[in-house]
Amino acid sequence: MTTHELWQAALGELELSLSKANYTTWFRNTFISTFEDGRAVVSVPNTFTKAWLEKKYHAAILKALQNVAKDGLREVHYKVELKPSVPQDIGTPIGAAPAATPGAAPVQEDEQAEATKDFSLNPRYTFENFIVGKTNELAHAAALAVAEKPGRYNPLFIYGGVGLGKTHLLQAIGHKMVEMNSRTKVLYVTCERFTNEFIHAVRNGRAKEFKDTYRNLDLLLIDDIQFITGKEGTQEEFFHTFNALHQSNKQIVLSSDRPPKAIQGIEQRIVSRLEWGMLVDVSAPDLETRVAILESKCKEKHAELSREILSYVASAVQSNVRELEGTLNKIIAYHQFKNVKATLESVRELVSTMNNGGGAKKNLTPKDLLDTVASYFDVPTADLLGKCREKRLSFPRQIIMYLMREELNSSYPSIGKIIGGRDHTTAIHAYTKIAADLQEDEKLRHDLNLIRQRLYSAA
Ligand code: ADP
Ligand code: MG
Repeated sequence: MTTHELWQAALGELELSLSKANYTTWFRNTFISTFEDGRAVVSVPNTFTKAWLEKKYHAAILKALQNVAKDGLREVHYKVELKPSVPQDIGTPIGAAPAATPGAAPVQEDEQAEATKDFSLNPRYTFENFIVGKTNELAHAAALAVAEKPGRYNPLFIYGGVGLGKTHLLQAIGHKMVEMNSRTKVLYVTCERFTNEFIHAVRNGRAKEFKDTYRNLDLLLIDDIQFITGKEGTQEEFFHTFNALHQSNKQIVLSSDRPPKAIQGIEQRIVSRLEWGMLVDVSAPDLETRVAILESKCKEKHAELSREILSYVASAVQSNVRELEGTLNKIIAYHQFKNVKATLESVRELVSTMNNGGGAKKNLTPKDLLDTVASYFDVPTADLLGKCREKRLSFPRQIIMYLMREELNSSYPSIGKIIGGRDHTTAIHAYTKIAADLQEDEKLRHDLNLIRQRLYSAA
């Protein structure tokens, strides 16, 4: 039996005795890294999981492993270690040396972020790695204050555009609190995950376990709470979870792409709770901060790029930090691959091809909106700009006008002009109609959420 098979068998046993939510929360991305002389080491993705497994599940894990390993498993230890991406599911034979990591390909940035996106904290998202500038200093200070003295600002609500460090700050709070007290129960979830887990729990008659998990935390981090719109059951559950935690002075931190009041289709009683504590925003960093961020990322990645190159990249990529980082990664990868030293010239050339080659993308444009909505409703973009008033076209058209106003802050005359040279009154009508319909129409809210998700995940 390999370590992989051993762990799978033990997980099979554990799964039977745990709720689905608990099982996925605590055993996702775990594996056995070594098993020698009756001593197994279980690798887990973060310190929080480690503390939790040691405290709550150690006996069950030991028993499950002893059941399957038969021949003399005596001890189980836990270690924080990310799963190697290559040859992931093979595992090492028991007693053999652990898979040689130096030869294995490094875990891809994206994959790694993906793997740790839901329940666990990404080790890179700490306060130490967060660069403070004018546009995020308040959010940073509030996050730090909350981590140091939970319950002081409760909830902390961080909002701002995509790629500006909201997730990073949320997770930094989690890391900091665990660092100060390893017994702190922290849970980081995306709103989507919270919703899915809840629906799943209800469907499988495990709502109580779901509640127990969430209501016994010291710190609950919910990312992108704007996606909770329109999901009544989930809103109800969130409301009660919120109250339970808040009443016992447990810290709640939420992020969103917009302030609470601007989240459509969310109950008033929730909006008011979201505003109880502290609201802070993050916006795009200024040039100086962008250079500082690039410098810090270079250090992290052990890449050497001249100050001149970094200034150039910082001035070329202005929209958000994710894009800035993505551009830097491509520059590094490109030069490593070609095995040449980066020069201002080579970087310039690369960045210019990236901007029109679909690599890094500029801020949202009306065209992005048009294309996304057209593909969502499966109608040709050109028809949306045309005169035809059939509902299958007029409805998506109104949605585009609504979104241009909401997401791009465009003026009504310019919206009319872009959408096939229409009058500004048409744009006003479209906007008010969709805004009013949103109050009533669950399906419409759902559509808009999905469209926004597509827009921002492509951006
Ligand atoms: P958001 O959740 O707001 O969309 P993220 O937190 O995912 O954004 O940030 C996107 C990327 O940019 C992450 O890799 C994050 O580490 C990085 N980042 C954002 N802001 C900063 C900052 N001030 N300092 C260092 N890195 C940052
Ligand atoms: Mg985020």
